[in-house]
Amino acid sequence: MIVNTCGFIDAAVAESLATIGEALAENGKVVVTGCLGAKQGFIKKAHPSVLAVTGPHDSAAVMDAVHAHLPKPHDPYTDLIPDIGVKLTPRHYAYLKISEGCNHRCSFCVIPSLRGDLASRPIGEVMLEAENLVKAGVKELLVIAQDTSAYGVDLKYRTGFWGGRPVKTKMLDLCKTLGELGAWVRLHYVYPYPHVDDVVPLMAEGKILPYLDVPFQHASSRILKLMKRPARAENVLARIRGWRKICPQIALRSTFITGFPGETEAEFSELLEFLKEAQLDRVGCFAYSPVAGAAANALPDAVPDEVREERRGRLMQAQAAISAARLQAKIGRTLKVIVDEPGLGRSSADAPEIDGVVRFKGCARVGEFAAVLIERSGEHDLHGRLQ
Ligand code: SF4
Repeated sequence: MIVNTCGFIDAAVAESLATIGEALAENGKVVVTGCLGAKQGFIKKAHPSVLAVTGPHDSAAVMDAVHAHLPKPHDPYTDLIPDIGVKLTPRHYAYLKISEGCNHRCSFCVIPSLRGDLASRPIGEVMLEAENLVKAGVKELLVIAQDTSAYGVDLKYRTGFWGGRPVKTKMLDLCKTLGELGAWVRLHYVYPYPHVDDVVPLMAEGKILPYLDVPFQHASSRILKLMKRPARAENVLARIRGWRKICPQIALRSTFITGFPGETEAEFSELLEFLKEAQLDRVGCFAYSPVAGAAANALPDAVPDEVREERRGRLMQAQAAISAARLQAKIGRTLKVIVDEPGLGRSSADAPEIDGVVRFKGCARVGEFAAVLIERSGEHDLHGRLQ
């Protein structure tokens, strides 16, 4: 209860004190405001149990006192926002952003100039968000950042705490800890650092999904150098073989750029050869686009628009055949899928929106896991029936 008081005449003072007394007797939680409140110590002397006393014209102090002792009043515009914030994805999967910005300077990219250098979120904060998401019904966490594998570099892999336990702000530690939540954990935008190899055993053990989204961008070492990207194609192929040896079921996704300034037909063929060798499961491809402010725009020998596009088409066509063959090999297997819509799910090899899907006959609840026997395959999707 809020009692507004008057101290102008003695009768008003008496009435005010009496009213405060009544209010205390009625519900015991009383905030006093008004002129009488301005008399230092006067109210507290008469009624020591009032919660707060403010002077006149101080509605902010009154509201602070109210909020200190009662939950905030309901506001339909903001109160329905859960602690985890507003989630725009379906209830059963969520993106988990672990850092912002990037320390690399790929010559085709302006992200570092827009978002700055890498800034990792503390591990405790990330884990708490992940835990709350899982508690709220999320069954798949999609780990994202501009550079997921650099997580914690800026914080010198500082040790944080989750559930009272020390955990390092580091990709491997994050993956291990996320793996304890019991949800699917899918890694995106993994820069091909050597330490990425360390998370593959976690995939083999079923702690996180056997899925790695590593943008390779190209295969020609000259083009990669111009892009200011690491890794020579032969090293990448050896690493892919290594990953598959440790975790044969791993699904590899990558993205490439065709028509980067100076890319010759021979270098593009190198990329096609690489694709044939690498046998990636999922591939995205962009025709080079000169983003304003990107260093690559100053490179000589721009590739004409139509050639960039034509190469993109050829790359996607080559990959479609690889993808079709890889999917065909899944016929006859029973896959665990997460159901996104009636009759439509995704296996561990399918990230939402960017990869293929598993279409199935039979009734399964949206947001739940189901087992689907694969009967047919296409270029990107699988078809089957519920088990
Ligand atoms: S392409 Fe990725 S790794 Fe390279 S600068 Fe941009 S955000 Fe960083």
